[in-house]
Amino acid sequence: MNFLEKRIQQEGSVLDGNVLKVDQFLTHQVDAQLMQKIGEEFAAKFQAKNITKVITIEASGIAPAVFTGLSLGVPVIFARKQKSVTMEDELLCTEVYSYTKKVTSTVSISSKFLTPTDNVLVIDDFLANGQAALGLSELCQKAGATVTGIGIVIEKSFQSGRELLEKAGFDVYSLARIASLENQQVQFLTEK
Ligand code: 5GP
Repeated sequence: MNFLEKRIQQEGSVLDGNVLKVDQFLTHQVDAQLMQKIGEEFAAKFQAKNITKVITIEASGIAPAVFTGLSLGVPVIFARKQKSVTMEDELLCTEVYSYTKKVTSTVSISSKFLTPTDNVLVIDDFLANGQAALGLSELCQKAGATVTGIGIVIEKSFQSGRELLEKAGFDVYSLARIASLENQQVQFLTEK
């Protein structure tokens, strides 16, 4: 069991609808030391890939993405779910269905932050059916940037996200892979 799987086992709880709650260290309260380790793991995996930007989606992707950007020494962009009055520039937008909120929202970033020369690493907290990661890759594609990899903190491997992203040609790297949340028990893929 790796460092992250241990934390999930100790502090995670399983909610209805195959949702894992990890608000003690990732989705509400953030354990910065754990995030630093997560950032270093992603950076080690993608170090040789000449990443120029890290992109994520607000809110819970921001902490792991920032620490990944810190480790790689590159800027971090987070896609916004609501347009702010400060976003006066040309926007790149796409629709993303939220697995936990059950609503579709338009997510956007200012086009000035991504260029065709960028090699982008997409980071997110969870992978379920792949809609958030796919939406982020669409924003990159709209900018003409290349998605070099997708880093996921917690992948629910029993859902369809990884298959969808791999079929689309993406290199998906997850730090914890969950095989099942049945009977309120977290079972990791590595244990099967
Ligand atoms: P997907 O787009 O892959 O279907 O779902 C990923 C997004 O939904 C993530 O950005 C995350 O915010 C949320 N999500 C999906 N599954 C879970 C889960 O089990 N627990 C939590 N806390 N968030 C989840």
